[in-house]
Amino acid sequence: MMGMQPTKTTPVYELKNTINGIRRGIITTRAGKVDTPVFMPVGTRAALKGLTNEQIEATGAQIILNNTYHLHLKPGESVIKSLGGLHEFTRWNKPILTDSGGFQVFSLGHVNKITDDGVTFNDPTTGDEVFLSPEKAMQIQVDLGSDIIMAFDDVVGLDKKSRNREEEAFERTHMWLERCTKEFKRLTKDMPDSERPLLFGIAQGGLDKSLRKCSLEIVQSSDVDGVAVGGLSVGEPRKEMHEMLDFLAPLYDPSKAHYLMGIGEPVDMRYAMEHGIDMFDCVLPTRNGRHGTAWVTGDKKIHLTNAKYAKDKSVIDENCDCYTCKSGYQKGYLRHLFKVNETLAGSLVSIHNIRYLNKICEEYRSKV
Ligand SMILES: [Zn+2]
Repeated sequence: MMGMQPTKTTPVYELKNTINGIRRGIITTRAGKVDTPVFMPVGTRAALKGLTNEQIEATGAQIILNNTYHLHLKPGESVIKSLGGLHEFTRWNKPILTDSGGFQVFSLGHVNKITDDGVTFNDPTTGDEVFLSPEKAMQIQVDLGSDIIMAFDDVVGLDKKSRNREEEAFERTHMWLERCTKEFKRLTKDMPDSERPLLFGIAQGGLDKSLRKCSLEIVQSSDVDGVAVGGLSVGEPRKEMHEMLDFLAPLYDPSKAHYLMGIGEPVDMRYAMEHGIDMFDCVLPTRNGRHGTAWVTGDKKIHLTNAKYAKDKSVIDENCDCYTCKSGYQKGYLRHLFKVNETLAGSLVSIHNIRYLNKICEEYRSKV
């Protein structure tokens, strides 16, 4: 299957313009079009904690990410499928991307065994043994009804890797990619072109440039609709991550969408967009939001739980057009909500933070 192009008759990614490394384009999914560069907020368990779909849409979000690992464990893809798939289940009618579960298996699951077949781990809450493989990850994501499906990869975190383990993960990731594309084709062969989900491959290689280059070449010559860069921002110094993005920029296939996984710090998003990246996802805006941390103009962070905001009448950011700031919610009020554990606090600041990242993407789209 190597070297074959996807069978879509309409282009999945359309490059509109590129200036100084920044690309403006459109991704066409079966659930609609997405203007890029784009930030995807994360709804881990099929919800963006504390936000309604109307609130999410009002931030300018065009596409969200749901987590395969969590949804496989609860409620299980068969339940979601019987309720009509993720779009029916969540009532979110714009595009949905699902990750493959790989990253969570290695970061959250109690991994028992990794072989070429797949990964066996224990569900951290029930203790039940669970098996995930490239084929299984494709079946789960197709059953969930995802619009963009991610390949299942072997992930090595910076903290626990040895050189041997890294090379093993590298080899396995590419072997698994081939199995993912094969299984994906089998599962989607009867779907009309307009109803087929997309499959993205993931390039790994840690901070080793030759491995990264090799991985990217393998992924880009595979039968995938888009290419993702995984395994960055996992604890390495920012400078090293940026150097890698710099190195990879000229190597991407310009005809495919480029997705940098798990990145959501404004400074990193800006650097990545200036180096050919089109898509991002991150839990930061919602996680920070629930803890009272907000980004404000200049990519600075403020902590709303701080005592100095107790009698502060100003909104989070005067320049912000999000629901929370436009409605005039004062910092003093938000601080109070956090202090008494009102869940509204997390919702209001999450709205602001997601809007902040979406606005950065809008700013970059307007530049090219
Ligand atoms: Zn705001």
